[in-house]
Amino acid sequence: MPTDRYRIHPGAAVDLAAHDPDDRALFDGTRDDAEAVIGAQTKRLEALQELLYAENQHKVLIVLQAMDTGGKDGVIRRVFDGVNPQGVKVAGFKKPTPDELAHDYLWRVHPHTPGSGEIAIFNRSHYEDVLVVRVHGLVPADRWQRRFDHINAFEKLLADEGTTILKFFLHISKDEQKARLQARLDDPEKHWKFRVGDLDERRRWDDYMAAYAEAIARTSTRHAPWYVIPGNRKWYRDLVIGRIIVATLEALDMRFPPPEIDPRSVMVE
Ligand code: AMP
Ligand code: MG
Repeated sequence: MPTDRYRIHPGAAVDLAAHDPDDRALFDGTRDDAEAVIGAQTKRLEALQELLYAENQHKVLIVLQAMDTGGKDGVIRRVFDGVNPQGVKVAGFKKPTPDELAHDYLWRVHPHTPGSGEIAIFNRSHYEDVLVVRVHGLVPADRWQRRFDHINAFEKLLADEGTTILKFFLHISKDEQKARLQARLDDPEKHWKFRVGDLDERRRWDDYMAAYAEAIARTSTRHAPWYVIPGNRKWYRDLVIGRIIVATLEALDMRFPPPEIDPRSVMVE
């Protein structure tokens, strides 16, 4: 499955309205067919993650960004289902604490980047500092505008030091968000996920789309590409993201480290 379809090429302009959140061009089977493929991919991901951990050479950073209800939690649950939690860390970035705000915006992010043999998943990220911060005018424009350069330099640093970076924008339509927010209101077990503030963010949808478009266009690089993933169908989203991650890990061409001794020379008594 060629997943390049959703990769934003460095320097390309981004018009999110031209990216269909309902697109499913890479899979023409049914949802049940897709579930089978997702299951097989998850198994493959499990094996690759074990290899990554054993080899202890590569570091992998996966950034997830989306509007509220966009599916970040779902991707983490589904795509990484069954992966050994040892070696996979999830870091969520919420409203900064006073201590975090007293520092530069990358200060809280850097400690959560992956070490050798690890996969780190960012549920939101340093991109909030050019998204929510921009949309709400939390810092002056000239300040957030300079952040694209910092972010590119930061990600280049991580890549130069051996980190493979993948960034996913889970792209849902405004109508789909409406349906998902309503579903949260209708299901008592999902009330905890609903925040009144989400409605305020929803009213700023167009501002967010403009902020996302610029952020993605300015920071999709060869070493840290953005993928705009059609998000309206959860199974298609999970299928495509799983495929991209598996293909990326396969390309690392990892090997189990050689044994320290010749196993035939040792007898376990
Ligand atoms: P959630 O991911 O739904 O738990 O919500 C986390 C909230 O924290 C979202 O509304 C984000 O926009 C907000 N948030 C995350 N990072 C920042 C930041 N750097 N500045 C302001 N708000 C942020
Ligand atoms: Mg939320």
